[in-house]
Amino acid sequence: MTKVLRCSDVGFECEAVIRAETEEEVLKKAAEHVQSVHNLKEISDEVVEKVRAAIQDE
Ligand SMILES: [Zn+2]
Repeated sequence: MTKVLRCSDVGFECEAVIRAETEEEVLKKAAEHVQSVHNLKEISDEVVEKVRAAIQDE
């Protein structure tokens, strides 16, 4: 099953959709995405929790 994260579900005005095989991969890709695209310097626990909660199965 594929895990999907819509960046907009995390609270960003962003059309990006991140897909990966596992939740850990999605979290990793999401962290890279928000750091490079949204200039977020630090991924706080709060952001991680938001991302985790927003991940859906596809
Ligand atoms: Zn984004």
